[in-house]
Amino acid sequence: MSDCIFCKIIKGEIPSAKIYEDELIYAFLDISPINFGHTLVIPKEHHQSAASIPEEVAGRMFHIASRIGILLKRLDEFDAYNLHLADGTAAGQVVMHAHLHVIPRGAEDNFRWNWRQLNYPEGKMAEIAADISAKLAAKLNG
Ligand code: 5GP
Ligand code: ZN
Repeated sequence: MSDCIFCKIIKGEIPSAKIYEDELIYAFLDISPINFGHTLVIPKEHHQSAASIPEEVAGRMFHIASRIGILLKRLDEFDAYNLHLADGTAAGQVVMHAHLHVIPRGAEDNFRWNWRQLNYPEGKMAEIAADISAKLAAKLNG
Protein backbone atom coordinates (compact mmCIF):
# COMPACT_ATOMS: atom_id res chain seq x y z
CA MET A 1 0.00 0.00 0.00
CA SER A 2 1.52 3.32 -1.07
CA ASP A 3 0.78 5.28 2.13
CA CYS A 4 1.75 2.49 4.55
CA ILE A 5 4.91 3.23 6.56
CA PHE A 6 5.90 -0.43 6.83
CA CYS A 7 5.53 -0.91 3.05
CA LYS A 8 7.79 2.14 2.67
CA ILE A 9 10.32 0.58 5.08
CA ILE A 10 10.34 -2.66 3.03
CA LYS A 11 10.94 -0.64 -0.18
CA GLY A 12 13.74 1.35 1.51
CA GLU A 13 11.84 4.65 1.17
CA ILE A 14 12.00 5.04 4.97
CA PRO A 15 15.23 3.93 6.66
CA SER A 16 15.16 1.07 9.18
CA ALA A 17 17.61 -0.93 11.32
CA LYS A 18 17.23 -4.23 9.44
CA ILE A 19 17.68 -7.54 11.26
CA TYR A 20 16.59 -10.01 8.57
CA GLU A 21 15.02 -10.22 5.13
CA ASP A 22 13.99 -12.99 2.77
CA GLU A 23 11.50 -13.30 -0.10
CA LEU A 24 8.52 -13.42 2.28
CA ILE A 25 9.31 -11.36 5.37
CA TYR A 26 11.28 -8.39 6.73
CA ALA A 27 12.46 -7.82 10.33
CA PHE A 28 13.74 -4.55 11.82
CA LEU A 29 14.13 -2.78 15.15
CA ASP A 30 11.08 -1.00 16.61
CA ILE A 31 11.79 2.75 16.72
CA SER A 32 10.31 3.09 20.28
CA PRO A 33 11.28 -0.17 21.99
CA ILE A 34 9.96 -1.65 25.24
CA ASN A 35 13.55 -2.87 25.67
CA PHE A 36 16.52 -2.36 23.34
CA GLY A 37 16.47 -5.03 20.65
CA HIS A 38 12.62 -5.01 20.39
CA THR A 39 12.06 -6.24 16.82
CA LEU A 40 9.14 -6.18 14.40
CA VAL A 41 8.65 -9.07 11.95
CA ILE A 42 6.37 -8.21 9.02
CA PRO A 43 5.12 -9.86 5.82
CA LYS A 44 6.49 -8.20 2.66
CA GLU A 45 3.01 -8.27 1.17
CA HIS A 46 0.68 -5.69 2.76
CA HIS A 47 -1.92 -7.29 5.06
CA GLN A 48 -3.81 -5.23 7.61
CA SER A 49 -4.89 -8.30 9.59
CA ALA A 50 -2.79 -11.30 10.53
CA ALA A 51 -5.80 -13.43 9.52
CA SER A 52 -5.26 -12.70 5.81
CA ILE A 53 -1.54 -13.59 5.80
CA PRO A 54 -1.00 -16.85 3.86
CA GLU A 55 -0.05 -19.80 6.08
CA GLU A 56 3.44 -20.15 4.60
CA VAL A 57 4.24 -16.48 5.30
CA ALA A 58 2.70 -16.53 8.79
CA GLY A 59 4.67 -19.68 9.57
CA ARG A 60 7.89 -18.01 8.43
CA MET A 61 7.09 -14.96 10.58
CA PHE A 62 6.66 -17.11 13.68
CA HIS A 63 9.71 -19.24 12.88
CA ILE A 64 12.03 -16.25 12.42
CA ALA A 65 10.48 -14.25 15.31
CA SER A 66 11.08 -17.06 17.78
CA ARG A 67 14.67 -17.47 16.60
CA ILE A 68 15.26 -13.73 16.97
CA GLY A 69 13.71 -14.08 20.44
CA ILE A 70 16.22 -16.78 21.36
CA LEU A 71 19.08 -14.51 20.24
CA LEU A 72 17.72 -11.50 22.14
CA LYS A 73 17.32 -13.72 25.21
CA ARG A 74 21.05 -14.39 25.16
CA LEU A 75 21.92 -10.70 25.35
CA ASP A 76 23.39 -9.81 28.76
CA GLU A 77 20.42 -8.21 30.49
CA PHE A 78 17.65 -10.52 29.13
CA ASP A 79 16.68 -14.13 29.75
CA ALA A 80 13.24 -14.28 28.12
CA TYR A 81 11.12 -12.78 25.36
CA ASN A 82 7.49 -12.04 24.47
CA LEU A 83 5.87 -12.43 21.05
CA HIS A 84 3.01 -9.96 20.67
CA LEU A 85 0.58 -9.20 17.84
CA ALA A 86 -2.17 -6.57 18.01
CA ASP A 87 -4.91 -7.23 15.42
CA GLY A 88 -7.28 -4.24 15.32
CA THR A 89 -7.36 -0.82 16.95
CA ALA A 90 -9.08 -1.98 20.15
CA ALA A 91 -6.27 -4.51 20.58
CA GLY A 92 -3.67 -1.72 20.31
CA GLN A 93 -2.78 -1.98 16.61
CA VAL A 94 -1.50 1.43 15.50
CA VAL A 95 0.31 0.57 12.25
CA MET A 96 -2.16 -1.13 9.92
CA HIS A 97 0.37 -3.47 8.33
CA ALA A 98 0.30 -6.69 10.37
CA HIS A 99 3.43 -7.14 12.49
CA LEU A 100 4.73 -9.53 15.11
CA HIS A 101 6.61 -7.90 18.00
CA VAL A 102 9.61 -9.74 19.48
CA ILE A 103 10.32 -8.18 22.87
CA PRO A 104 13.39 -9.16 24.88
CA ARG A 105 12.60 -9.44 28.60
CA GLY A 106 14.54 -9.55 31.82
CA ALA A 107 13.35 -10.08 35.38
CA GLU A 108 14.59 -6.61 36.29
CA ASP A 109 13.29 -4.71 33.23
CA ASN A 110 10.49 -2.92 35.14
CA PHE A 111 7.92 -3.63 32.42
CA ARG A 112 4.60 -5.26 33.39
CA TRP A 113 1.81 -6.40 31.06
CA ASN A 114 -1.53 -5.22 32.45
CA TRP A 115 -2.98 -8.73 32.11
CA ARG A 116 -6.20 -9.36 34.06
CA GLN A 117 -7.72 -12.78 34.80
CA LEU A 118 -11.52 -13.01 34.79
CA ASN A 119 -13.63 -15.95 35.99
CA TYR A 120 -16.23 -17.65 33.75
CA PRO A 121 -19.76 -17.98 35.19
CA GLU A 122 -21.01 -21.59 35.42
CA GLY A 123 -21.48 -23.10 31.91
CA LYS A 124 -20.14 -20.08 30.02
CA MET A 125 -16.74 -21.59 29.22
CA ALA A 126 -18.22 -24.71 27.55
CA GLU A 127 -20.79 -22.56 25.73
CA ILE A 128 -18.13 -20.23 24.25
CA ALA A 129 -15.83 -23.13 23.33
CA ALA A 130 -18.66 -24.94 21.49
CA ASP A 131 -19.66 -21.76 19.65
CA ILE A 132 -16.11 -20.87 18.54
CA SER A 133 -15.15 -24.42 17.57
CA ALA A 134 -18.29 -24.85 15.43
CA LYS A 135 -17.71 -21.53 13.64
CA LEU A 136 -14.01 -22.29 13.13
CA ALA A 137 -14.75 -25.73 11.70
CA ALA A 138 -17.33 -24.19 9.31
CA LYS A 139 -14.81 -21.51 8.23
CA LEU A 140 -11.94 -23.98 7.70
CA ASN A 141 -14.14 -26.42 5.77
CA GLY A 142 -16.06 -23.78 3.83
P1 5GP B 1 1.39 -1.63 17.13
O1 5GP B 1 0.96 -0.77 18.28
O2 5GP B 1 0.69 -1.27 15.84
O3 5GP B 1 1.35 -3.10 17.44
O4 5GP B 1 2.93 -1.31 16.98
C1 5GP B 1 3.46 -0.45 16.02
C2 5GP B 1 4.93 -0.34 16.36
O5 5GP B 1 5.59 0.23 15.25
C3 5GP B 1 5.20 0.54 17.57
O6 5GP B 1 5.85 -0.21 18.57
C4 5GP B 1 6.07 1.67 17.00
O7 5GP B 1 7.10 2.06 17.87
C5 5GP B 1 6.61 1.07 15.71
N1 5GP B 1 6.84 2.04 14.66
C6 5GP B 1 5.96 2.99 14.23
N2 5GP B 1 6.50 3.71 13.22
C7 5GP B 1 7.75 3.20 13.02
C8 5GP B 1 8.80 3.54 12.11
O8 5GP B 1 8.69 4.45 11.28
N3 5GP B 1 9.94 2.79 12.20
C9 5GP B 1 10.09 1.78 13.10
N4 5GP B 1 11.26 1.12 13.11
N5 5GP B 1 9.12 1.45 13.97
C10 5GP B 1 7.96 2.15 13.93
ZN1 ZN C 1 1.97 -2.02 4.30
